[in-house]
Amino acid sequence: MTQGILTLNAGSSSLKVALFPGRGDRPMASALADRIGPEGTLRLKGAFGQPLEAAPGDLTSHAGAMRMVLDSFRLEFPDLDILAAGHRVVHGGDAFDAPVTVTPEVMETLARLQPFAPLHQPHNLAGIRAAMEAFPGVAQVACFDTAFHRSHPWVNDTFALPRALYDAGVRRYGFHGLSYDYVTGTLGDLAPHLAEGRVVIAHLGNGASMCAVQGGRSVASTMGFSALDGLPMGTRCGQVDPGVLLYLMDQRGMSAAEISDLLYRQSGLLGLSGLSNDMRTLEAAATPEAAQAIDYFVFRCQREVGGLAAAMGGIDALVFCGGIGENSRLIRARICERLGWMGIEIDHARNTENALVISSELARTTVMVVPTDEELVIARAARAAAGLTERDAA
Ligand code: AMP
Repeated sequence: MTQGILTLNAGSSSLKVALFPGRGDRPMASALADRIGPEGTLRLKGAFGQPLEAAPGDLTSHAGAMRMVLDSFRLEFPDLDILAAGHRVVHGGDAFDAPVTVTPEVMETLARLQPFAPLHQPHNLAGIRAAMEAFPGVAQVACFDTAFHRSHPWVNDTFALPRALYDAGVRRYGFHGLSYDYVTGTLGDLAPHLAEGRVVIAHLGNGASMCAVQGGRSVASTMGFSALDGLPMGTRCGQVDPGVLLYLMDQRGMSAAEISDLLYRQSGLLGLSGLSNDMRTLEAAATPEAAQAIDYFVFRCQREVGGLAAAMGGIDALVFCGGIGENSRLIRARICERLGWMGIEIDHARNTENALVISSELARTTVMVVPTDEELVIARAARAAAGLTERDAA
């Protein structure tokens, strides 16, 4: 019998699945169903990245895609026994500060949060329903992007709006929590003295945010009510003056849907460069607009590191993760360039190698690169729900 733990991340037209073993941290297989609908595609990979054969099936719905992925995994592992499934869910509101096994009551609570994350939450929940249908009787565990930030003090949980809005749920939730959870745990293993201190984690990918972690707990994050706030991202705006939105509505007659499209899909690096949302493309481009997009990204990162360090009364470590944070030596070096006043100094040889520690020997503040692994955080939560301890799984 091959024991398996599934991790699932359901988007509007995509489904990302990884199959973890009952023991061990490396997936045995993974799948990406994309453009779910009449033109759906499915890519399957084995433990070493080799392509796997797809079972027959239909990709016109999430439930169909789920069955097809599972059937394909079973071609590879005919005696597969799924012990539990963990789901990435963007919003846990103020109700959940840890993963939770899904019950009808939990689904009701999560459905009530849909207006807070209308672009993601409905699809996440559709993924859970499809999984319940595809493998009934298996524990389904919801893992939240917001949960890690529930430890924020009130001043970082609220906006200066009338209190009734706070009570109605208009709060600074923060996101990317699964990534911060992983990096914080890994730091605890690699450098426990730093993990006990004041750490700024920079999750810089297509989505980008930073988090201040003090003594292992999140105390502030650049993202707030939605995943739009804070740093500029691939296509998301990051922090903007709310007065801009009033102007767009009042003077330009833009609808909520048009403004949503502008802020989520046309802004950030893409909007500034007019070229691409992809940092690699911008680094290789020779246009002044691409250079300015990078300048803006770097500047906002520097500002936020300063702001988050202030929230903790100082900084002991800066940790980079995410596609840009893990791979772009240029962006890391440029962000750190103006942070010497915080005791940050990069060793350029180490930075070029993407080494674990990239700060220079004598620097007061340690700078690290820790590749993040959100799926593993979900797999561990699902394992725990299945009654397996990490000791069992090690
Ligand atoms: P993620 O969303 O975490 O997968 O990150 C995607 C972002 O990482 C994109 O903007 C990529 O261009 C960027 N990225 C990945 N590899 C590199 C690299 N070697 N240099 C610069 N940016 C990179």
